[in-house]
Amino acid sequence: MKIERVSDEHALYLRDESRSVGKADYIAFPVCDADVFEALAFARENGLAVTTQGGRTGLAAGAVPRGGLVLNLSRMDKILGPEREGETVLLRVQPGVLLVNLRKYVEGLRSEYGPLFFPPDPTETTASIGGMTACNASGARTYFYGPTRRYVEGLRVILADGRTVSLRRGEQKASGRFLSLRCEDGSTVEVDLPSYRIPAVKNASGYYVEDGMDAVDLFVGSDGTLGIVTEVLLRLEPLPPQIWECGFLLNAERDALDLTEALRKNCSRLASIEFFDEGALRVLRERKAWDASLFSLAEVPEDVHSILFVEIHADSKKAAFEELEKASACLAACNGDPARTWFGWNAADIRRFKDFRHAVPESVNMLIDVRRRKEPGITKLGTDMSVPDRCLHRVFALYREGLSQLGLQSAVWGHIGNNHVHVNILPNSLAEYARAKELYGEWAKQVTEMGGAVSAEHGVGKLKASFLETMYGASAIGEMRALKRAFDPACMLNPGNLFGTGD
Ligand SMILES: Cc1cc2nc3c(=O)[nH]c(=O)nc-3n(C[C@H](O)[C@H](O)[C@H](O)COP(=O)(O)OP(=O)(O)OC[C@H]3O[C@@H](n4cnc5c(N)ncnc54)[C@H](O)[C@@H]3O)c2cc1C
Repeated sequence: MKIERVSDEHALYLRDESRSVGKADYIAFPVCDADVFEALAFARENGLAVTTQGGRTGLAAGAVPRGGLVLNLSRMDKILGPEREGETVLLRVQPGVLLVNLRKYVEGLRSEYGPLFFPPDPTETTASIGGMTACNASGARTYFYGPTRRYVEGLRVILADGRTVSLRRGEQKASGRFLSLRCEDGSTVEVDLPSYRIPAVKNASGYYVEDGMDAVDLFVGSDGTLGIVTEVLLRLEPLPPQIWECGFLLNAERDALDLTEALRKNCSRLASIEFFDEGALRVLRERKAWDASLFSLAEVPEDVHSILFVEIHADSKKAAFEELEKASACLAACNGDPARTWFGWNAADIRRFKDFRHAVPESVNMLIDVRRRKEPGITKLGTDMSVPDRCLHRVFALYREGLSQLGLQSAVWGHIGNNHVHVNILPNSLAEYARAKELYGEWAKQVTEMGGAVSAEHGVGKLKASFLETMYGASAIGEMRALKRAFDPACMLNPGNLFGTGD
């Protein structure tokens, strides 16, 4: 494998979808474990930091290098094949496999294994399985199916010193908060796990720890700071025969919040509950007015304030219809008009809904790129925080109050079923950007007080390192650093992730 000097042609590999830009001296594109060993040996010999990259769709700058060597895994993209374990179908993949390609492959298994699917669904399908594992990625269907963690049955990880760990869920567990991890060469990594308790909300903030935990779970969501994942064993799920989707067009945000709570209480077959606010719909309408590529996207009437999308997963048409009736009753009780509902029940309809939802973040990113041409110092600030169910109205009040007091433009969307929306603040100037950053920091404190998480799905990366300290406190960060050092004493892997500067 060639380890190349970074040149202008590698500009793409210095950034991710957070729009942060880094720097690096070398870049390597391994295709197998032996190449990863070689790259790590080169980095150790030359005292280089190593930044691992998957699809670079991350939003927390986790894959943005800070000098040293970029280890881009996009060419480790082989699907190694399905395996049966009793009734369960598992799929072994290299980390660079993109979600979009994994989905196509799983569809192709239908004739032999029946209809299956891989539930985690970050909207961006060019995310890689390695990146999704490192971030514990989620998506809309996490409301019902849980995050990536739940579908990782095994991992192969190469540590900074070149040792390898092969893990199958259930085989290596901590004793209380002490983990003695066996490597393939028979040596062990012995480590005291941090003592903090993780909140009972959707969470991708820092290391996952609990008494007696499975070692697989330590690596999932570790932001690539403990080792390089070179193989993942995923569990696939039977695809429900009926997948229906509705978009409820609402006149007020309060109705959307009430409807979310009513749906949570009364419906049992909803895979997702997703929200788009007035600001998000406005940005989309404005782009649709000039961008012909959005021609086929549904028109949103001007008086619609928010949209709530729900996806019904059911075993039969009858069950899906019953769920739809329950959801419609909730809608009527929350000032909604059943006549203003978008409805889809076949693959083409579902695709159209997904295209609509994907067009929103894309349009916001385009808008901010235009603003950055005038003022390169600004960028979008997108929150990723979750709170317990009881705090849904409270957290929205917090967001609205801050935005209106500071006069900041925003677009809000996301996974409201999990009380987890992305508030995207869209600054026009450096002054607004500075105010927005301060506001975001204040929200992180308040969300922590509510028992929430500062990152629910994007991971902490480099951009949210200070929020991690807000969430867990300085002493817990010290414990996390000690854990990191047990695996990577020279702090060679992904410096800047989780801990900011001074790993
Ligand atoms: C439009 C848009 C919508 C999105 N929607 C969602 C969403 O709904 N839900 C969601 O969860 N995310 C979402 N994301 C964010 C992103 O897609 C996820 O964070 C995804 O998991 C990143 O995968 P990636 O392969 O691009 O990782 P990268 O960006 O390349 O890397 C992310 C992190 O993982 C580490 N990493 C990557 N591969 C490995 C490996 N093999 N071993 C060790 N560490 C590794 C990197 O070092 C980095 O720290 C969205 C992004 C965009 C642009």
